[in-house]
Amino acid sequence: MTELAPATTKSAKTLPYQSRRTFAIISHPDAGKTTLTERLLAASGAIQEAGQVRGRSNKRATRSDWMEIEQKRGISITSSVMTFEHSGLTFNLLDTPGHSDFSEDTYRTLTAVDAAVMVIDLAKGIESQTLKLFEVCRLRDIPIVTFVNKVDREGQEPLDILDEIASTLALDVTPIVWPLGQGVDFRGTVDLVAGEVLSPSGEVMREFEDVDELLLDEKLNADPVIRNSLETLDLARAGLPEFDLETFRAGHLTPVVFGSALKGISVPELLAALGDWAPEPRPQPAEPTPILPSEPKVSGFVFKVQANMDANHRDRVAFVRLCSGTFRRGMKLRNVRTGKDLAIANPMFFFGATRETADEAVAGDIVGIPNHGSLSVGDTLTEGASFKVTGIPNFAPEILRRVRLTDPIKAKQLGKALSDLAEEGVAQVFRRMVGADWLVGVVGPLQLEVLAARIAKEYNVPITFEDVGFEMARWVEAEDKDELKRFITANKLELAEDKAGDPIFLAQNSWWLARAERDWPGIRFFATKERN
Ligand code: GDP
Repeated sequence: MTELAPATTKSAKTLPYQSRRTFAIISHPDAGKTTLTERLLAASGAIQEAGQVRGRSNKRATRSDWMEIEQKRGISITSSVMTFEHSGLTFNLLDTPGHSDFSEDTYRTLTAVDAAVMVIDLAKGIESQTLKLFEVCRLRDIPIVTFVNKVDREGQEPLDILDEIASTLALDVTPIVWPLGQGVDFRGTVDLVAGEVLSPSGEVMREFEDVDELLLDEKLNADPVIRNSLETLDLARAGLPEFDLETFRAGHLTPVVFGSALKGISVPELLAALGDWAPEPRPQPAEPTPILPSEPKVSGFVFKVQANMDANHRDRVAFVRLCSGTFRRGMKLRNVRTGKDLAIANPMFFFGATRETADEAVAGDIVGIPNHGSLSVGDTLTEGASFKVTGIPNFAPEILRRVRLTDPIKAKQLGKALSDLAEEGVAQVFRRMVGADWLVGVVGPLQLEVLAARIAKEYNVPITFEDVGFEMARWVEAEDKDELKRFITANKLELAEDKAGDPIFLAQNSWWLARAERDWPGIRFFATKERN
């Protein structure tokens, strides 16, 4: 199994950032993300027992100086970043909020990671939210390790689920941990990397050099469940590509681990795959040139701003992904957008249980910066240089609503409020080309609630939302400017402008969008747009 050998050999000379593995878990609600997160933290010793993440209450997984701020002001950010250490590496696990708190932040968090774990329910296969998040990963060719969860329950045949992943996502798949049976007939796993057959509780039952040995092992094959599983493994090996680190790192191949988060099956193997293969911090796209993590000067970008909903002031925390340098408490950083310098007196460091204090952070790490509105999503922070990080887009909204003022006198305040909050990244704001309605666009319903609550509280403007009959939006561009004009004229009722004045096409549903794409081959439709 030499082709599966670990990619990294740990040497004492590695720079601190090279030990960082910054990743997110993408999944559909109920696939097992929370359970797996707990398992990963437990496997690393960052928490004593599984069950602490779910509570999200007073049981903090990590201790830090910002806990107090958090408790005093009611900001719940503990689970936004979880850091743990394992086999000499520091893993930063960024939460991608799901369920009702699904928002543009969920997507944008994926612009701040170098790898992802995709959790799929063995019975359900690829579900809608997984697919959406996967597409965001694909924008940046983020390497993905797949965890097919719940092998302790009856589900689909492993070969079928691999086929589904390969065909739905147009991705090569290579199983690296194979299940022997499933549900009540679950007998254990084959770890194809280590060359071990494991019992359901993870004990090594047999070692091997080549799978062929297992196929010939009479004792193993005496059990029809195991025999059957080994035969399908043989088919999978014959029909699927071998693992290739470069293809994985380019985002074109996903190694697949079959396991159970609930039972802890294959969690160590998943962690090993991440540690061995997930990349160290990658160069960050930026203008004029990409930022290398080895550059000595500090740089980073804001991928999420979390406002405090509970108290009466405008405190918020900007989550900054560091791209280079060594960040220290008290440092001054320039916000390139505004040209202003910020003294960062109270940064929030996220760290594992093994380190009591952390006053430094490096590329790949996340730092929380409390501020009063001076930092927005997409902002670049530097030690004075004026380059700009790119690749932090806006995502086409999936929910569009007309904003209705209950008090028409407040039209001007409403404009200001929408503009401020759009800047911060709470929602996107559009103006229809016909009529002067404000439209807001979001990707999750909770974003609308947050928007209304904040406009009411911070600007004293009560608003409600109305359905406008559009479910999809796409920014439009064309090489031929006249063609774009013709498109706009012909579709005026379906067009709006974003904050920057760029046209966005609104469609009732995917069928209408597909029709417009077919009818207007000279127009390009985009689901994302670089923030400007
Ligand atoms: P999330 O919504 O993706 O965070 O999913 P959760 O981790 O909350 O899990 C959803 C449900 O699936 C819970 O009832 C879990 O106990 C259950 N679950 C998670 N992992 C497994 C597993 O490996 N096997 C089984 N049988 N159930 C699981």
